[in-house]
Order: sequence, then structure tokens, then C-alpha cells
Amino acid sequence: KLALRTEGLHKTYQRGRIKTQALRGVSLAIPRGTFCCIVGPSGHGKSTLMHMLGALDRPTAGQVFIEDQDIGSLSSSALAALRARRIGFVFQFFNLLPNLTALENVTAAMMFSNREKAQRAGRARELLDLVGLSDKYKARPNELSGGQQQRVAIARALANEPDILLMDEPTGNLDSEAEAEVMANIEQLHQQGKTIVIVTHSAEIAARAQQVIRVKDGVLVKE
Ligand code: ADP
Ligand code: ADP
Repeated sequence: KLALRTEGLHKTYQRGRIKTQALRGVSLAIPRGTFCCIVGPSGHGKSTLMHMLGALDRPTAGQVFIEDQDIGSLSSSALAALRARRIGFVFQFFNLLPNLTALENVTAAMMFSNREKAQRAGRARELLDLVGLSDKYKARPNELSGGQQQRVAIARALANEPDILLMDEPTGNLDSEAEAEVMANIEQLHQQGKTIVIVTHSAEIAARAQQVIRVKDGVLVKE
């Protein structure tokens, strides 16, 4: 069973008269439960590929399958629902809401979930416990270290029990100690069966991956 698959994926950005071919025919398959890294030089299409895999943006040509479903056939609202239920996102710059506490940031992610309102805070506490932040429920982002903020972001990404976690340089903005904390959380999630896809510049992280996808100039390079 595959978590993610693409066939002949192309993505061209157009800004005014300037066209950028960010992806030029990418076909890949990521089995369920895999710890996968996407690596390659800056500006060569890694974030674009991650955005396509997470259905944050539509390809110019080609297909994306999430859990064997061809997402090209889905309406925007069906796509948003699939994304919310199946995929958790973690970005380099955390993207936490600055005026909300850690607990509220995680709870806010359940805004559209079927879960009873009363259960949401409980679920959010469990997730913060899971990432080692039991004593930080009430802290706001500016009261947390970078590593702690990223762990809140990971807890938030898990709020709707996604099977797949897509992370764009989750440790890119962290010192090595915070990176180690965050990677320990990520490895734990992998052991629980999640499919993990990480865009990274870190050779150390890539060395631990089961699958390494190398992107160069918008195409895949054989390992
Ligand atoms: P990477 O993640 O490997 O650094 P990106 O996928 O971010 O690479 O970018 C690939 C190429 O697409 C780059 O040339 C970049 O400038 C361009 N690009 C990315 N996003 C956009 C956008 N929204 N509009 C226009 N060009 C973009
Ligand atoms: P980068 O990896 O390029 O330094 P980020 O990882 O912060 O930057 O964000 C990558 C892209 O994802 C940006 O174009 C941003 O608009 C988009 N993005 C960031 N957060 C979210 C989100 N929560 N939902 C949807 N798109 C997002």
C-alpha cells in the first residue's frame, strides 16, 4: 500500500512573463509507514514537490495520489477535507498563532473536526504531553524556545490524526540540541506507523531515512 504517489508531475509557476519550471516530470512512490527524506540544492523544487504531495497547490500536469486516491478528480472542498483528515504539515518557521497559548494553538487545529468540543482540549493536552510539553500548556509562542515551538507545531499537525506528516525543513531554524529533541519526536511518530516525509538539508537526518528522494533542477536523481 502506498501513502503517496506521483505520475509525471510538472509544476510551472508564472509571474508576469517569467515562467519557472519548478518540477519537470516527477514520478515517485512512498509506501505507507516510510520515513522519507526529500533532499537537493536550494531552489530545485523540493518545497514545490512537498506542496504537491500535500495538495496545498495543484500541478500544471501529472497526477498525485494520496492513499491511492487521484486527487486531481476532487473538488476544492473535497481536497481541503482530505488534506485536513489525512495530512499534517510542519513548516520551518512554526507558523504558530502568536496570541494563543500552546494548548489553544493545538485546539484551534481541531476547529473543523468531528470531535466533541469538550474533548478537544483533552486531546490537545495528550498531544502536548506526547511531545514533552506537559508543563507548557499555557505558554505563548514567544515564551517558548525554537525547539519547543516546533514541538507545539508537531502536536498541532497531529491534532486530526493524520496518517501522513509532511515537514518542510522542520529543524532548519533550530540549534543542534533542539534539532535532536524534534527528531526524537519525529522518530517516535514513525515508530507508531506514520508516514513521514521531510524536506531537509541535513545529511544526518537523510542518513536515518528509509527512502531518500533527491531533486535536482525539477527532476529526480537516482540515488
Ligand atoms: P526548494 O524547495 O528546492 O528550495 P522550491 O520548490 O521552493 O525549491 O522552488 C523551485 C523553483 O520554483 C525556484 O526557482 C523558485 O524560485 C520557484 N518558485 C517556488 N515557488 C514559487 C512561486 N510561488 N511563484 C513563482 N516561483 C516560485
Ligand atoms: P520555506 O520552506 O519556503 O522557507 P515555509 O515552510 O514556512 O517556507 O512555507 C512554505 C510555503 O507553505 C509558503 O509558501 C507558505 O505560504 C505555505 N504555508 C505555510 N504554512 C502553511 C499552512 N499552514 N497552510 C498552508 N500553506 C502554508
